Parts: sequence; C-alpha cells; structure tokens
Amino acid sequence: MLAAILRSYGTPLVIAEIPRPEPRAGEVLVKVCACGVCGSDRFLQKGGFRSTLPIVPGHEASGVVAGGTITAFPVGTRVALYYLRHCGECRYCRTGRENVCASVQRMGVDFNGAMAEYVTLPAANLMPIPSTVDDISAAVVTDSLGTPLHALRVAEVQEGEVVLVIGIGGIGSSAIQIAKLLGARVIAASRSEAAADVAHAMGADDFIHCDVNLPRRVKEMTDGLGADIILQCAPSPEAFAWGAEALATGGRLVIVATALEPVPFNTNRLLWGEQRLCGSRGFTRADVIQALRWVEEGRLNVEHLTRTVLPLARANEALANLDRSDIVRSVLRP
Ligand SMILES: [Zn+2]
Ligand SMILES: [Zn+2]
Repeated sequence: MLAAILRSYGTPLVIAEIPRPEPRAGEVLVKVCACGVCGSDRFLQKGGFRSTLPIVPGHEASGVVAGGTITAFPVGTRVALYYLRHCGECRYCRTGRENVCASVQRMGVDFNGAMAEYVTLPAANLMPIPSTVDDISAAVVTDSLGTPLHALRVAEVQEGEVVLVIGIGGIGSSAIQIAKLLGARVIAASRSEAAADVAHAMGADDFIHCDVNLPRRVKEMTDGLGADIILQCAPSPEAFAWGAEALATGGRLVIVATALEPVPFNTNRLLWGEQRLCGSRGFTRADVIQALRWVEEGRLNVEHLTRTVLPLARANEALANLDRSDIVRSVLRP
C-alpha cells in the first residue's frame, strides 16, 4: 500500500509502498478515506515526539472497515478513528479518560498512522459516522473539533464567561465555534491578520492581533478583568506569556498546543489570582461522538476545515500549508 513515511527527523516525508498492516486479535483493518494534517505532525517531523523511525504520521482520520475482528461494525461501515490505543482497564480508562491512559500509544506517533491507504486499530477505537456527515468532515471532527471541545471541558467553561483563544488554526478556529455554542463570549487572537476573517466567520465576538499589547487589549474589552479562560493554541513562548498576563482572577489557562521549547512562568500570578494552569491532552471518544452529533445537527460547521483536499502523494505540501494563513486545514485523501 502507499504511505507517507518519516524516515529521519527534519526531512520531507517519503511517499512509498510498504506492506499493508495485518490486524492482530481484537483489531480491525480500516481503509483510510481521509486524514487531516495537523501542527503536531510537523512537531513529529521535527523530532518533538521522539518516535522510533521510520513512522507513518496521521492521527486525524476516517475510513471504512475493511477486515479483521468482526465487531458491531461490519465490513463497509464508515468510521471515524480514535487515535489512541489504550488499555481499557487502568483507572483513567475506567473513568472515561482514555486520552491519559497509563499505557497509551498514539497512532501516527508510536505506531503507524493514517497517512496511508490502510491502518489497523483496536475495535474500541472505531466510532460510526452519522449518515449525513461525509468522510472528510468526520476525519477533521476527531482532532480539530475533539481537541478544542476537550480543552473547554478541562477549563469547565460556564455560560457567559470570556474565552480568549490564542492561535487561530484548525484547533483554534474550532475552539471559537464550540465556545460560542457553549454560551461563552469569545475573543480570538492571532499574529495573522488573515485569521480575523476566519475568527469572525466562526462567530468570534472580537479579534485582536497577538502581540505585546494583547494583555492590555483583553483587559480593555473585559472591564479591566481579563479573560476567564484562555486556550493557548499557539506554540509560541511569547504568546504564552502574553496570555498569562491577560488571565482574570479565578481564570483557567489551558495549554492546547505543544511548545517547541520550555516556557518560563511566574507562579505567583496563579497564587494571587487563584488561577489554574491546565494541560489538555487530545480528546476522548466521548468528545468525538459529541462533536459528530453537533455537526450532524448543523450546530458546528467544518466547511472551513475541508476546503483543501490533496492526494497522499502531496503530503509534504499539506505540511507546508500549515504555515499559510489562507489555509486552515489540509486533508489527505489516500
Ligand atoms: Zn493533531
Ligand atoms: Zn488505560
């Protein structure tokens, strides 16, 4: 089968034929229909995850059941893929927190991912796609919607709170939509002026340029109080520092983006403001199922994430598109 392969860090993906994976007991063979390309794929390419190479990236995917263990989903069923192999038995898995399972393995990081014609996954990782949701939308729903939905759950967002989203890419743009759906007031911030159009289209109440003036601007917009919740979706240390300064008393600063370097932080700010600093790691199956339902009901729009569809052979172009402000998401169609 054809796959996009990372053979050494810092080099382009190589498009080549590799053997089709064989499902193990309890696993399903899935023919990949669509795979979104994400900032964390580039983090992987740069060596951030310290994967064992070679590896096939790709963790935001949908497909069709093609064989393996017979489950509730017979061959031909359209499925969204949950990217984490998890044990199902540890205390995290037992409480619906499979995203932090003690023995978690990530598709496209720890085992071969969906930038390929086929993947194998445990049957528990398949989620049926509602009939009115297409394959490409279902793929981007997993990470691009599941991740911000999970982050807003971690933040315990309440109706009427002010949510500041820093970084308006695939994750950030969806965070705006979901925060609005949950009744928040949303301020979007980005270094790219082009992101303003995306932010407003997603329902942001305000847009500000992400620079040293960000804390002052946010406070001006919130009666001097700051944002109740900040979703840090940009990998920049400066953006993290500016965001921390814009956080209200009692606020929650949620780290969503992987940082390429350590970030210095004054912990006294948390103490005096009784604030919380949280990490939000990926998403759970429940997050994806909820997001798929909202897309099916027309309450969330993924059209802006599905405009750029490329064949697998153009995987490197899809990675390069992460730097373009006019493309929110690229999706590969193996
Ligand atoms: Zn991702
Ligand atoms: Zn577990």
